[in-house]
Amino acid sequence: MKLGGYANRIGWVDLSAGKVEFKPVPEDDARKYIGGRGLGVKFVFDNGPKVDALSPDNVLCFMNGPLTGSEANMSGRMAVVTKSPLTGTVTDSHHGGWSAARLRWAGFDGLVFKGKAAKPTYAYIHDDKVELLDASEVWGKGVHETIKHFQAKYGEKDLSVITIGPAGENLVKFACWINEDDRASGRGGTGCVGGSKNLKAIVIKSGKNIVKAADRDKWKTAHTKALAEIMDERVVTSPRKGGLSVYGTNVLMNMTNVIGGLPAKNSQFTGFEGAEKISGEFVNANILVGNPTCHACPVACKKEVEVKDGPYAGLRMESIEYEPCWSVGANCGNDDVRVVAKMIHMCNDFGMDAIEIGHPLSVYMEASEKGYTNGDGKLAWGDGAAMVELAGKIARREGIGDVMANGANAVAAHFGHPELAMTCKGQGIPAYDPRGIKGMGLGYATSNRGACHLRGYTPAAEVVGNVLGPSTVADPLAWKGKGEMNMIFQNVHAVTDCLDLCKFSTFAESLDSFAAQYEAMTGIPSDAGHLLKVGERVYNLERHINNLNGFGEGSDQLPKRFTTEPSTMGGSKGHICELDDMLVEYYDKRGWVNGVVPESKLKELEII
Ligand code: SF4
Repeated sequence: MKLGGYANRIGWVDLSAGKVEFKPVPEDDARKYIGGRGLGVKFVFDNGPKVDALSPDNVLCFMNGPLTGSEANMSGRMAVVTKSPLTGTVTDSHHGGWSAARLRWAGFDGLVFKGKAAKPTYAYIHDDKVELLDASEVWGKGVHETIKHFQAKYGEKDLSVITIGPAGENLVKFACWINEDDRASGRGGTGCVGGSKNLKAIVIKSGKNIVKAADRDKWKTAHTKALAEIMDERVVTSPRKGGLSVYGTNVLMNMTNVIGGLPAKNSQFTGFEGAEKISGEFVNANILVGNPTCHACPVACKKEVEVKDGPYAGLRMESIEYEPCWSVGANCGNDDVRVVAKMIHMCNDFGMDAIEIGHPLSVYMEASEKGYTNGDGKLAWGDGAAMVELAGKIARREGIGDVMANGANAVAAHFGHPELAMTCKGQGIPAYDPRGIKGMGLGYATSNRGACHLRGYTPAAEVVGNVLGPSTVADPLAWKGKGEMNMIFQNVHAVTDCLDLCKFSTFAESLDSFAAQYEAMTGIPSDAGHLLKVGERVYNLERHINNLNGFGEGSDQLPKRFTTEPSTMGGSKGHICELDDMLVEYYDKRGWVNGVVPESKLKELEII
């Protein structure tokens, strides 16, 4: 393959046979799906889209994009793509930090694991090689101890460790992968798939930066322009007076609360009286100790904190992000930021999705309040000590934790009240209430990986009011136009996930800017229209995979609470989410028939 950027090497690992095959990146697929999420989804499709998530036949893909490891802004992200044990859909989840760059510098565009190892195994990646080695010593260990073990064994310099914790080993359905920067490929249960394969960790010892642009002069121009866009952007960095650089993503807590877009106490309310005490501003003023960043990122949105008092005094952790903070905070009626820090830290150490865990907890809390728990005791809103204890029980699958480990739908069904689960396709909603931020409601329902804010981040326009270079502002309470808006956001974010760039880059960089960098790096002619077509292709292929797995007409739903129970407070008071109206508009724009991709569309996009 003559394309620039790519290492042109993918490691195909058969864990059952203990064998590794090395193949070049298929050029036709690279042109159509770029890399990262796109290539991973294509591999899932080619492997047989109906494979059960926990079958050895499922593939678990760790994928880079063609810009990964270069000096491209925010290019330190890696996609983990597979079938999800939580939702049954195809899923992808991306982590930041340095491990993606190191995989590229070790000579790889991706690793694809299939089969099941006979015993706990880790993959050691170095010098264009993949070695499969015995992980018995670290099986059962937490993420942080596992990482320290490999750092002691191989030296910290140039080393990345991506690992599962006990939750993945115990097949918790929302288990995840965490790396040495405490960055998670959090959603969808990709760590559970790792556990089902007896794959404990991927340890990467990187070599030199090998990324070469096809046209070095063009690359310099494109990169310089993109960097200027980021440094000049009010939400992301400039003038470093607010936004992500100062408060991290948790700057959203107070913003969503005011507009009636902050779901509280299992989404019974659209605002939380304790929001300020868990907000980015509060964290900044009271417990912030550092601002770490990812590879090639001038933003540094991570906020390292240290708990100063109380039972968790001395706990230092990275980082309090908005969505996990909401999940174990407002969603659980908890306004103690020390408990938030402890819970996120525990989730990282157990290797569990810190956004998802709030859902089985808040279902348990609402069921307790309403007297539905029968012999399973009670869990009070905001009971931090009990939440911490239950996190351990979930990871170990002990007692009620065994039910909770299967997700919110399982807990709600266990109590005989499935309506308590605030999920779409089995995955819990993130931190935006569909009654106060209506485009996000449509986004949850039509997300291909279950409820998700990152498929199409409409709050960029509906809450923050700035995306894709020039300002785009949308009324969060209007439903008209949200169908087309969601489609565009979903296609754009599919592109950044293929490249694989942090989504916050879309606050500042235009599609033309992405295209200029992609063209200079790979040598493939590109413009905004070309990239949007790739995004559309990826989104339609994912939807096609889901259609083949039984997600057909009527599958794009929201929990009834959002479409029937009016918002209780804030700017959205009295509103419901008009999902059905938005779906009509969305399907029309997509060219889908009630959520199903017709064959003609698959052919038009050259998917089949
Ligand atoms: S903006 Fe934040 S998450 Fe994105 S690359 Fe930078 S530090 Fe990482």
